[in-house]
Amino acid sequence: MSTERDAPSPAQGKKNLQVRCPSCGVMHTYSTDNPYRPFCSKGCKAIDLGAWASEQYRVEAKPTTEDLNDAPDA
Ligand SMILES: [Zn+2]
Repeated sequence: MSTERDAPSPAQGKKNLQVRCPSCGVMHTYSTDNPYRPFCSKGCKAIDLGAWASEQYRVEAKPTTEDLNDAPDA
């Protein structure tokens, strides 16, 4: 018989969550007070938005109409 309870793993950094800025990669504290989260600063957010505006994140989707014509009709 074991009366031991499974102790939860110690959660570290629960108050000060460190996140990586998607733009520059610097570690900073994730705070709801930061209007630029998950970015570290205003500049990084602007850079990311600029990247989206450009063609860097453009997804090319080529519809294959040939597949529709090649449907089995037997
Ligand atoms: Zn940054």
